[in-house]
Amino acid sequence: MPELPEVETIRRDLNKFLSGKKITAVEVRQPRLVKPSVTKLKKALVGARVGRVSRRGKMLVWHLPKQQKLLVHLKMTGQIVWRQGGGKLMVGGHPIIGVDTVPNKYTHITVSFTGGGKLYFNDTRKFGYWRLVDDATFTDISQKNFGPEPLSVAFNANYFLAYLKKHQRALIKAILLDQKTVAGIGNIYADESLWLAKVKPQRWVGKLHPAEIKLLVASIKKILKEAVKYRGTSFNSYVDSLGRAGTYWPHRKVYGRGGLSCKRCGTIILKTRVAGRGTHYCPKCQR
Ligand SMILES: [Zn+2]
Repeated sequence: MPELPEVETIRRDLNKFLSGKKITAVEVRQPRLVKPSVTKLKKALVGARVGRVSRRGKMLVWHLPKQQKLLVHLKMTGQIVWRQGGGKLMVGGHPIIGVDTVPNKYTHITVSFTGGGKLYFNDTRKFGYWRLVDDATFTDISQKNFGPEPLSVAFNANYFLAYLKKHQRALIKAILLDQKTVAGIGNIYADESLWLAKVKPQRWVGKLHPAEIKLLVASIKKILKEAVKYRGTSFNSYVDSLGRAGTYWPHRKVYGRGGLSCKRCGTIILKTRVAGRGTHYCPKCQR
């Protein structure tokens, strides 16, 4: 699933392409991806101008007129393509191997804009969603389902220390993956942040020292900022026509490096399972 850096990259691109453009048509081929209904989605979108696109955790938030928001989540297999003037200008999300045209059989939603631009939502397994909500519902979802944004000042050592006090009997990696702890971190950046903070993913939260928790907060921010700078980790087999696929992968510290040597101490990186997820760590310098 795309994590904060990948969704943030898509958000920045969408802002460039969609912001201020008027929607002329919406076509939905897979109604169950749309909530509350296709009729309500079309009513809200057709004729409307998209304001800015923001992000909450791994979710894209389109700001619409009349105090409405459209929440777009790519989940495990979703992909967004922006096409204009005959070329694909942006592909974000998951690759669809062997499929290089849009629309294709995995295109479930198409939104057309003035000026000829089209946005395609492709999803091989259909886990993603498009959900139309009013501002009050969005605030409610945002407060109930998500912790602070990791790159905001609200995510700080005091917050994290207090939060972890209430979750002493959890594994630190599991806590990082929980969107209610901090929004937008998934498997890759949890492993990367834990490596940077020298904390073993399978440590019990209750056994962490305050100094380690503080260092973990700083590490999360550092890793995410770096990954945003590199436009995330590329999930794409497509070549972005502007040559801008995510390039964090060669810079990663530990994720996907099982069997290779630790970039800090040279020990062989181990791969194991923590919280049901493939997890990579250095058995020597992560304690
Ligand atoms: Zn090491």
